[in-house]
Amino acid sequence: MAGPSLRLLSLGAGVQSTTVLLLACDGTIPRFDYAVFADTRWEPAAVYANLRRLRLEAAEAGIAVLKVCAGDIRADALDPVHRFASMPLFVKGPNGERGMARRQCTSEYKVRPLKAKARELLGYPHPSRVPKGVYAAQAIGISTDEFHRAKDSGVNYLKNTFPLIELGWTRGDCIAYLRRRGWDQVARSSCVGCPFHGNHTWRRMRDERPAEWAAAVAFDYAIRKGHPAANTAGQPPRGEYFIHHSRVALDLADLRPRRGGDGADPDGCSPWGCRSGHPTPESAREGSRVIATRRYLDAPNAKPRWAAGPALLAGTPGPAAPARDQRQRDRYAVGGRGGAACDPDGRRAGHGPARPRESGPSWEGATA
Ligand code: SF4
Repeated sequence: MAGPSLRLLSLGAGVQSTTVLLLACDGTIPRFDYAVFADTRWEPAAVYANLRRLRLEAAEAGIAVLKVCAGDIRADALDPVHRFASMPLFVKGPNGERGMARRQCTSEYKVRPLKAKARELLGYPHPSRVPKGVYAAQAIGISTDEFHRAKDSGVNYLKNTFPLIELGWTRGDCIAYLRRRGWDQVARSSCVGCPFHGNHTWRRMRDERPAEWAAAVAFDYAIRKGHPAANTAGQPPRGEYFIHHSRVALDLADLRPRRGGDGADPDGCSPWGCRSGHPTPESAREGSRVIATRRYLDAPNAKPRWAAGPALLAGTPGPAAPARDQRQRDRYAVGGRGGAACDPDGRRAGHGPARPRESGPSWEGATA
């Protein structure tokens, strides 16, 4: 097969992908044609500042930083007429059942626009067919300590590469490198109101970024009865929705540090690395007793399934067991496809195409 027609970077603007871009600017790794950032329009101000700085530095190295955007995730969630791709909100059912709404936002607001941009840059925008053998190499910022998140793109026209794993760099190596380069304030990239934030992130937001905190609190109250389309369509409220894992209003939630369960937030929302899909310690614990809901937010007539089933969070399988972890490492080591602990695009690397969402039980399964 011929080489890639394009070299892209999926730029989340967090620690790892910032490192990859700067390494390319330095000439340590081959240059990219484009670095592409998927904007949900609700990132912290620090992420946008980081992006502006990156854009300037990358331009000097001849790398264009592009932005793609599928909409404003916060405005869409509150718009009664907009089809909303749901966030992984915490749900309290009518009888006190606890669950999570299925997460669709990462796919809708990040993965799909990035794929569309790749097709466009290759010269084959949807719906034209990308000829066999034509593809872009897409670098993903995943370090060796999270190698299990390395996986393929799921499409033939994008081949994921993992420069940090090839270099053998950990996240600590990235932080040290960024410090040496004068980039010691790289913020975590994820939506301001992302329900995957742990107490550590919420506390820092409350104490250090009052405007973002106020926006998150207002959003939390606004989504209490779910996506407004459900209510305007006459759907009686069946349960309440929260962005804090305790299922208490964010401004009233207990954000105090807790031993063993605090400060371990997922490290940003990366489209293919999918860190936000990795459970927080709190949501992982929820996994043992979660009752998941089905389309509570985005489908007014859908009935929630308070049924029994496997203990899976919405799109957030728990940490891989050690044995499976080893198998994934082996697969990666021999050049196979990296295993996917979590796949925002509805696919599991190496396990064939995605199952249609309507086709039966999947991550919406439930257990008592
Ligand atoms: S940061 Fe959270 S809310 Fe935003 S796209 Fe990722 S998972 Fe969804």
